[in-house]
Amino acid sequence: MELFDSHCHLTDPAYKNRHEEIITRAQANNVKYFLTVGLNVTDSKLAVKTAENFSGVFCSIGIHPHDTDNATENDIKELEKLACHKKVKAIGETGLDFYRNYSTHQNQEKFFNLQIELAKQLDLPLVIHIRNAYLEAKSILLKHQYFRGVIHCYSGDESFAHWAISQGFFISFTGVITYHNFRSQNLIKKIPKNHLLIETDAPYLSPEPMRGKVNEPAFIKYTAYALAKIKETSYEDICYFTTQNALMLFNIS
Ligand SMILES: [Zn+2]
Ligand SMILES: [Zn+2]
Repeated sequence: MELFDSHCHLTDPAYKNRHEEIITRAQANNVKYFLTVGLNVTDSKLAVKTAENFSGVFCSIGIHPHDTDNATENDIKELEKLACHKKVKAIGETGLDFYRNYSTHQNQEKFFNLQIELAKQLDLPLVIHIRNAYLEAKSILLKHQYFRGVIHCYSGDESFAHWAISQGFFISFTGVITYHNFRSQNLIKKIPKNHLLIETDAPYLSPEPMRGKVNEPAFIKYTAYALAKIKETSYEDICYFTTQNALMLFNIS
């Protein structure tokens, strides 16, 4: 049995000098693959280094919507150079977050556009973060006609999910699906298995029963159990198809 944590932040200060411990514990819990996701150029460089040091750890490089007020066009060139590394498997996280609004909408849209272009040019999938901006994100993606990637930590409605799947996107869920107040089971039931991924988004969003603790990839099993219950299938089946989906999306053999 193998699990793939398709979105975590191993470069977070919460794990400083603890990579060995965190990764070993995850492996003991059947996590074989990890995608550590960069939030800006500095963090993306750290993500590449972390991936270099551990087999099974891959990375995505990009500029998070929250970080776009501090980004420059030169950062896109830096990402392009970094992308030559063989452990770089995606561009992101990128997207739009009109909920927290830590950066202006204008800068978020500018760097979402630039990163879609970069992903297209490099033939890499996108790791997309969207909050309260599904229609805006859809119109940008339609403009570029580039539909390779994952909508991570999905919080949208059924109609956006349906559109994204029909274009070929994957939809990823976090430990939020283990919470008592989670209400989108019916949406998940309608997503075909071959478009589903799971992730921790660690160190954030610890699943039940670890809620309140610092999240880590070893905890992804709780999300896999919750997904098995919703999809009315076995834990083994969830492990198998979510891992196969991630290996295919991120072109890992
Ligand atoms: Zn995110
Ligand atoms: Zn993230």
